[in-house]
Amino acid sequence: MASIDIVQVTKTFEKTTVIQDLSLTIRDGSFTVLVGPSGCGKTTLLRMIAGLDPQTSGSVIIGGTDVSRRPPGQRGVAMVFQNYALYPTMTVRENIEFGLKNNKVGKAERKALVETISETVGLQPYLDRKPATLSGGQRQRVALARAMVKKPSVFLMDEPLSNLDAKLRAQMRLELIELHKKLGTTFVYVTHDQVEAMSMADTIVLMNRGMIQQEASPEEMYRRPSNLFTAQFIGVPPMNVNGLGEGGIAFGFRPEHAILSLYPVAADFRAEGTIVTREMLGSETLYQIREQGRSYMVKSMDDSFAVGQQVHLGVGAGRLYFFDRDGRRMDE
Ligand code: ATP
Repeated sequence: MASIDIVQVTKTFEKTTVIQDLSLTIRDGSFTVLVGPSGCGKTTLLRMIAGLDPQTSGSVIIGGTDVSRRPPGQRGVAMVFQNYALYPTMTVRENIEFGLKNNKVGKAERKALVETISETVGLQPYLDRKPATLSGGQRQRVALARAMVKKPSVFLMDEPLSNLDAKLRAQMRLELIELHKKLGTTFVYVTHDQVEAMSMADTIVLMNRGMIQQEASPEEMYRRPSNLFTAQFIGVPPMNVNGLGEGGIAFGFRPEHAILSLYPVAADFRAEGTIVTREMLGSETLYQIREQGRSYMVKSMDDSFAVGQQVHLGVGAGRLYFFDRDGRRMDE
């Protein structure tokens, strides 16, 4: 097991700086998710931890050792990629064993290790099959098992579930949470999907344009976003944000925190408008309400409102967020 310290790291590709003087400590044994919009530098940061891309300046410290100049094989990390990178001509067993062959592990020990790990990830029935004959989820497990045999002190994963369908992705999320609990090893996981981040992470690191916007637990990110970017990135659909028309100040509330009614509501923030769209989500219904130039999304348990209806909405003071002209939270 190991903690990771990223110290004042900058990464420049030719003339473009994609990571800017970034410092971050990833706790030993944590499930840390790096999340952010496409191109924000998540993969670049992960590859610098892995040693696949050298940083332009700054250091990477794993388990107290400065590994900045070490090649990937000497950092005690294992990486799981989006495309799994399995060898098509090898069986599942051979794919898993492959990681060990370079480490001069004896044959008997190798066999025992492959058996144990296959059992952990539920691959035993498939050990003699080739990757092409497996489902996406099973291939994903082979990629995980191949990383696990190396007994790394850190697992690095880059969008490992993005090739799976929605149902399997949800199942694999739970399996990864279980696996993390079982192994107790540091997981660093990259995704652009905030739902994945919220459901798996104990720590979320939200990035934008090569910088950290906020680092917090999923609950804290949702309840106490420190700026407008976080407020609008975390939560589906995003927080409603509107200008107050004075000094660049904006206020926001989450779609799930507004009350809808046919009559005026007693609340700290009140508005009135027409329902312009209605989307049934299952247990909840999503309404878009327009009032002159403004538009609000409201997620409600009440599905009885219809498009074209005039409605009132209200939000309690405790559910309102205020931001200054630079997007920083003002009400903390
Ligand atoms: P995504 O979710 O789309 O994978 P990301 O957050 O992982 O995005 P990165 O892959 O880290 O983003 O890329 C960050 C920026 O660095 C992007 O603007 C990208 O174009 C640029 N970049 C990445 N690799 C290279 C490279 N080898 N040469 C030049 N620019 C690069």
